[in-house]
Amino acid sequence: MPSPLGHALGAAAAGWALAPPLPSATRQVVAATLRRGLWFAALGMLPDVDLLVAGLHRGPTHSLSAALIAGLAAAALTRSARLGAAAGGAYATHTVLDWLGADSSPPVGIMALWPLTSDYYQVSKPVFESLWRHNLTPDAWFHNIKAVARELMILVPLAWVGALRHSRSAKNAKNAKNAKNARNAKIAKPKG
Ligand SMILES: [Zn+2]
Repeated sequence: MPSPLGHALGAAAAGWALAPPLPSATRQVVAATLRRGLWFAALGMLPDVDLLVAGLHRGPTHSLSAALIAGLAAAALTRSARLGAAAGGAYATHTVLDWLGADSSPPVGIMALWPLTSDYYQVSKPVFESLWRHNLTPDAWFHNIKAVARELMILVPLAWVGALRHSRSAKNAKNAKNAKNARNAKIAKPKG
């Protein structure tokens, strides 16, 4: 299963892609983009809080219904359906990435469809390697470094594109607003 860094990158990428444009009045666009990204990244890492409870890991917090609850809560808190969708999407990337990841300890997979079923799901050909957390021999370190490098190769470009496109959203919103104002001014201008 991917590392916390992989989860943070995947969630930020999805959050940026789904979030509404930054307000056109945003001055510090890069800072505002990063701030949103940090929130999405935190949501993407949140499902692993179940590591704190013995025997519960990869259970209900890893389900799509937990992502739905996170999205609804975010929509209610921010009063924005699109921010809610972005938050829910960011959370759901955890489910997807863990499903796509190899798992070395039983029960293999995640409870993706809880509460409909308590079955564990995992893709048949994992895209991401599992991290070896016990018995950290030099071989295990080598394996983990390779696993994280693979995650970064896949997820850094996605997060990079998401951040770039999102940071441009404030500029685009400002241009659209200016164009609209110019059009209105033209219409309002008296003839002659
Ligand atoms: Zn997880």
